[in-house]
Amino acid sequence: MNIHEYQAKELLAKHGIPVPAGHAALSVDEAVAGAGKLPGPLYVVKAQIHAGGRGKGKFKELGQDAKGGVRLAKSVDEVRANAEEMLGKTLVTIQTGGEGKQVNRLYVTDGVDIAKEYYLALLVDRASGRVAMVVSTEGGMDIEQVAHDTPERITTITIDPVQGFQGHHGRALAFALKLTGELNKQAQALGKKLYEAFIALDCAMLEINPLVESKDGQLLVLDAKMSFDSNAMFRHPDVEALRDETEEDPAEVEASKYDLAYIKLDGDIGCMVNGAGLAMATMDIIKLNGAFPANFLDVGGGASKEKVTAAFKIILSDPAVKGILVNIFGGIMRCDIIADGIVAAAREVDLKVPLVVRLEGTNVEEGKRILADSGLAIVPANDLGDAAQKIVAAVKDVA
Ligand code: ADP
Ligand code: MG
Repeated sequence: MNIHEYQAKELLAKHGIPVPAGHAALSVDEAVAGAGKLPGPLYVVKAQIHAGGRGKGKFKELGQDAKGGVRLAKSVDEVRANAEEMLGKTLVTIQTGGEGKQVNRLYVTDGVDIAKEYYLALLVDRASGRVAMVVSTEGGMDIEQVAHDTPERITTITIDPVQGFQGHHGRALAFALKLTGELNKQAQALGKKLYEAFIALDCAMLEINPLVESKDGQLLVLDAKMSFDSNAMFRHPDVEALRDETEEDPAEVEASKYDLAYIKLDGDIGCMVNGAGLAMATMDIIKLNGAFPANFLDVGGGASKEKVTAAFKIILSDPAVKGILVNIFGGIMRCDIIADGIVAAAREVDLKVPLVVRLEGTNVEEGKRILADSGLAIVPANDLGDAAQKIVAAVKDVA
C-alpha cells in the first residue's frame, strides 16, 4: 500500500524527523489558506499523486513549456495561480506511464533554500534478509541512473533486526554523505529515527529523494515516498485510513474487498487459482504454451461461492480477457464444493468466454461430475499441462 508525500511527511514528523511545514489542499481555496499559514515568502506547490518524477513531469492539458508538478511560488497569489492551473489536470511523469495521473490534491509547503541534495532510502533487502539503508551524495536525480553510471557513489548499510540501528550505522551513513561537524551529527540522529519509524510503521519502502541540507545548516526531508507491508496493515488502522483508492487500480480495490490477491497483467488469459505458488506455476505454464496471463489471482484457501463469483466478475471486468483458466487444488476445500461455486458463478455472470477448469484433490470425481452435468460449456482438464494447452487453443480460436 502506498500513501501520498504529505501523508508520509506527517507520519515522519510524528517520529521526530525534520520536514518542512506544509498543508494539503483539495481546492484552490484550501491551497491559498494553507499558504496563509506558512511564513513565506517562498512556497512550493506540489502535485500529490502516487508517482515520482513530478518535478520533471508534464501536464497533458498544458503546453510543453508549462511548468511541471513541483512549482516554486514567491507569493500567495502565485500559489493561487499555480493551484488553479494544476488541480484537475493530468500529470505525466516517468513513473505514471503515458496515460498519466489526475491531480486531485496539492501540498503547499515551505520553500527551502537548498545547499545540497542527497538520496536516502530504506527498504527490505531480500538478499541479506535485513532492512537496508541506501544512501548517496547524488540526491534529486534518478537513482537507477546513478546506480548504472556511478555505482561507487551509492552506499548500502544493512541493519541487524536484533541489534537495531547502532552508533556505527549512523557514522557510516554520515560518512557516506561526506558530512562533517553539526550536519554529521544530524545525519546520525536522522538515520536512527528513520529506521525506528520504518520498523514501527511496518514499512516496505521509504525513499527520501532528496534529503537536503538547507543553507542555514539543517538536514530536511524534502520528498518522501512510503509504502507499507499490506499484511501488517491490521496493526495500523491509522495508516490504513490514509489509503487513497482513487490512486489504485479499481479491479485491485474490488479484489481486496473480497480478500482476493489480484494483480492485473498484460495478457489475455484470465487465471483463477488457489495459492500463490500454484498461481505462479499457472502463469508460467501459460507462457510456456505461448500465451500470456491477464492477471495473477489467488482466491486463497477458503474459495467460497461468493469469492469465486467476485473473482469471475473481476477477471471479466478486464476487456482484454479472451478466456479463463481455473486451476484449483482442493485440499482443505473439497472439489465438489468448488465445482458448485464455479457453476453458480459462471451462471450468475453469464460467462461468454471459454472456460477451462482443472480440479485436483479431495472429491475430485464428484467435482468433475458437477461441472459435466452443469450444461455449461466448461472444458475439463486433467492436469496443468493439459489445462494450459486447452485454454491457449481456445483463446486462439476466439482471436
Ligand atoms: P519528484 O521527485 O516527484 O520530482 P520532489 O519533491 O523530489 O518531487 O521535487 C523535485 C525537486 O523540486 C527537488 O529535487 C527539489 O530540488 C525541489 N523541491 C521540492 N520541494 C521543495 C521545497 N519544499 N523547497 C525547495 N525546493 C523543493
Ligand atoms: Mg523526489
